[in-house]
Amino acid sequence: MNLPPTSTNAAAESLLTEVFGYAAFRGQQAAIVDHVIADGDALVLMPTGGGKSLCYQVPAIARHRAGRGVSVVVSPLIALMHDQVGALEEAGVHAAFLNSTLTSEEAARVEREMMSGRLVLLYAAPERVTTPRFLAQLDSLHERGLLSLFAIDEAHCVSQWGHDFREDYLSLNVLHERYADVPRIALTATADELTRADILLRLQLQDARIFISSFDRPNIRYRVVEKDNARAQLLRFLRDEHEGDAGIVYCQSRRKVEETAAWLSAEGITALPYHAGLDAGVRKTHQDRFLREDGVAMVATIAFGMGIDKPDVRFVAHLDLPKNIESYYQETGRAGRDGLPADAWMAYGLADVVNQRRMIEESPAAEAFKRGQRGKLDALLALAEAHDCRRVRLLAYFGEDSPPCNPGYQNVCDNCLRAPATWDATEAARKALSCIYRFHQHGGQRFGAGHLIDVLRGKATDKVAQHHHEGLSTYGIGADVSETQWRAVLRQLIALGHLRTEGEYNTLEPTPSARDVLRGEVTLLLRETVATPKRGKGARAPGAGRGGKIKPPPLPLDEAGVERFTALKAWRTGVAREHNLPPYVVFHDAALAEMAQRCPSSLDELGAISGVGAKKLEAYGRDILRVLEGEAG
Ligand code: ADP
Ligand code: ZN
Repeated sequence: MNLPPTSTNAAAESLLTEVFGYAAFRGQQAAIVDHVIADGDALVLMPTGGGKSLCYQVPAIARHRAGRGVSVVVSPLIALMHDQVGALEEAGVHAAFLNSTLTSEEAARVEREMMSGRLVLLYAAPERVTTPRFLAQLDSLHERGLLSLFAIDEAHCVSQWGHDFREDYLSLNVLHERYADVPRIALTATADELTRADILLRLQLQDARIFISSFDRPNIRYRVVEKDNARAQLLRFLRDEHEGDAGIVYCQSRRKVEETAAWLSAEGITALPYHAGLDAGVRKTHQDRFLREDGVAMVATIAFGMGIDKPDVRFVAHLDLPKNIESYYQETGRAGRDGLPADAWMAYGLADVVNQRRMIEESPAAEAFKRGQRGKLDALLALAEAHDCRRVRLLAYFGEDSPPCNPGYQNVCDNCLRAPATWDATEAARKALSCIYRFHQHGGQRFGAGHLIDVLRGKATDKVAQHHHEGLSTYGIGADVSETQWRAVLRQLIALGHLRTEGEYNTLEPTPSARDVLRGEVTLLLRETVATPKRGKGARAPGAGRGGKIKPPPLPLDEAGVERFTALKAWRTGVAREHNLPPYVVFHDAALAEMAQRCPSSLDELGAISGVGAKKLEAYGRDILRVLEGEAG
């Protein structure tokens, strides 16, 4: 599906080096940039962290230099425009935003810059772009040949199928109707076919060239752990592997967000809550702290994350099951944009499956829609239960063929790192199902997982006595299987659709396919849980490594190098504060690490470091050399 890159436009590449300080385009960037510079429309599908911004920024700059005027970037996120524009201005690109946070004088100044054609990039939200006032301004620019390009970021917001639908995006087709000769580039990290078709249709991009990149994120380690005590597991994960790192912890409900953030804070971790129910001011403060400070864990609902381009998010943890694989990939994709190792960690348990299934069944949606939702949930559950390579499964879901992780990857998935032991749970599943049938025969009643497990394990509880279940032939037939394992068996039966839960007590109800399991026609292979089960053993892959700390510095540095790195970071903090921008907008950690390692002694040498463009060299070069000299003694 990937189109071969066309001839790299040498001018665009030298612009990339001059302005952004990068040596070369990545993947399809070169082809996209060429196409858009030459007036082509494009739809760009690239994973988060793939480098979408440059796909419109470089053409915008090239076209501006060629006298084509202003590029308009449609972005749904007012709260992030300030930093996006700040990053461009740092690189010496004249950019601005128009949104409700500006005073009328500030807005008037931006409009003057825009109308004069001096501005290279203007960021605005869709609701502004489609106002009569703004369109009149665009008309004027267009008449004078100064309307260069439209970039529509987060283009999946136009689709009702997607997860971030915005009504205002639907009106954006006016841009095509009014300015048919102005090229448009739409960008998204949402890969599924349905959304893609919807974007093309609704934005009237049928003639656009489609650029699909590989969605592989080799620096992300995917890991799913079985929920035991989720909080304790999360804490261990954070303490053992991500002390002092920035990351996101996703929870399903607002309440859980608040509780988890409070609890992590009490445990001494810098954790802040974020959800749509919080006051806008609080949300902004928390987001700013996450972006500007080192090592903040944001505990959030899915309301947080879109457009967050912080490069050094080292982990994304899910305490609850996401809605589907698209959401999971989008959310986890926010880790490791800088290409350094990062973790996608998820704790998953029986209650997650039950809740997600119930949410679908109880929703008022049409049956066809529910069927679609069920299919998506099934795919996600299969990923969570998988004992083979998670990356292969993820990419296969997006229609990509990929070999399993190999040692060449910076970060292999949990299953490849250490092949999970499995046990044959077919017999256990049959026992569980026949016990459920016995309940029904016995008193016509249904029960939840807790009681079922008690009966299978032969526990003498009040409830057992009350219903005389100690007399059932299935009482105690599963004493050799631990409670955790039983939960895994039931979870898998629900995940596979042989069981479903009903009513407020989540009573277990067999589905028609449960008969196949009872007849022994379905084999259930389960991952071994942490507490080693007594039955059936699967082999551990010989020589497979063990999980451990994975936090190498951006580059190997000797002691003096570390000192220089620390001094550079302190200097960067000062600059960032002065400019009211996040530190990574000034320089990425990776750039500082390379400076610390190579210790350049001239502006020329410094300028050769990745991420140091002409403007930054001019603005900061001398200061950096001074910092390096000072620390190098
Ligand atoms: P996306 O919007 O696709 O999630 P970004 O545009 O934020 O990704 O880019 C991700 C990171 O990769 C950014 O830090 C960006 O500076 C960097 N990057 C993008 N393209 C290149 C390139 N050609 N060379 C070096 N770094 C790049
Ligand atoms: Zn793998």
